[in-house]
Amino acid sequence: MIDIHVHLADARCISPGFIAGVAGSMVEGGGSAAGGNVERAVRLYLSDRKARRLLSQMDAHGIARSILLIADFGPALGEPALSIEEIHEHHAAVAEASGGRLAFFAGFDPSRGAAALSTVKRWTASPGCEGVKLYPPCGFELDDERMLPLWKHCSDNGIPVLTHSGASLPTLRKEQRYPQSVEEIIRRFPDIRIALAHGMVWDLDGTIKLLQRHPGNLYSDISSFQLLSPHDLEIMLESCAKVPNQVIFGSDAPLYDLSGNLGPKLEKMRSILAPEGQAKLFELNAQTFLYGTGTSTD
Ligand SMILES: [Zn+2]
Repeated sequence: MIDIHVHLADARCISPGFIAGVAGSMVEGGGSAAGGNVERAVRLYLSDRKARRLLSQMDAHGIARSILLIADFGPALGEPALSIEEIHEHHAAVAEASGGRLAFFAGFDPSRGAAALSTVKRWTASPGCEGVKLYPPCGFELDDERMLPLWKHCSDNGIPVLTHSGASLPTLRKEQRYPQSVEEIIRRFPDIRIALAHGMVWDLDGTIKLLQRHPGNLYSDISSFQLLSPHDLEIMLESCAKVPNQVIFGSDAPLYDLSGNLGPKLEKMRSILAPEGQAKLFELNAQTFLYGTGTSTD
């Protein structure tokens, strides 16, 4: 089983503005004193520097492999303690120490200029880095002119790209050109592989239509499924049959770690899906997205 969407729970790698935003969303009207306490608790939880807790959670849930996504929030939400280069170095070290259980996606924000692309080029050529993560609400559109060199690099080298989609922090922007922007990129780069984070959760019908139009290029993960009611989770899982080769399991850990154990939710997914559907959602579709072929290239 593969989890396509996790983050390293290490506060040194995460923008202070993002931590404050997540803590704020957990408080909901509790006042600034409560907000400060929640933010301290969240920071305390974000101390899994070597991914030991993540690896033990993976063991507990039968997850063989997870992809750590680096989201470059620095320019939009403030630089964290480690520089973007140090964050990549640290993720590479954690991936290497995991004996193949963890890999990572490089983070890219075009507002860093040429440095952003050279970071991506360097890391996507090294072991452990298997793709690129984008977060457009930081202030760009997928089909921005300044994104084109990145798409060309990924298309030329068969590198998969996972991009955030749907709601974000209130302090960030909304994408204006989605989903036309993603379709424009596929039109210009017909071999590209793109996964929409959260697509099957925030816009089930729209995402399915989009996936059906681009079967060789487009995927969606199911991360943030923790927000769905049991009924909506069931509908979402049953809808996977409409795009059986394009939906990928993702937990978004550690984001929902505190809202309940993953185990019972995985049990529920297994009880709803037939064995073939489970194999695709939990493993095979991630392989095709990552490597383009259905088998690992490493
Ligand atoms: Zn995430």
